[in-house]
Amino acid sequence: MDIKQYVMCGCTNVPPAELDIPVKSQFIISVKVDGAKCMECGEEYYDMQSLKAIEELEKD
Ligand SMILES: [Zn+2]
Repeated sequence: MDIKQYVMCGCTNVPPAELDIPVKSQFIISVKVDGAKCMECGEEYYDMQSLKAIEELEKD
């Protein structure tokens, strides 16, 4: 993943991380995606593709 700017929090210490994203689905509680997590404030970042996949899961 290539994120140029961490616009949500503005911090600089944001290493890649495996994120556990909660999903509002009847069958799935959460999914793991490759993203990045801010070491300073805990803000989580992941790409559009992952976001779309999660939205698809929440449709069910
Ligand atoms: Zn931050």
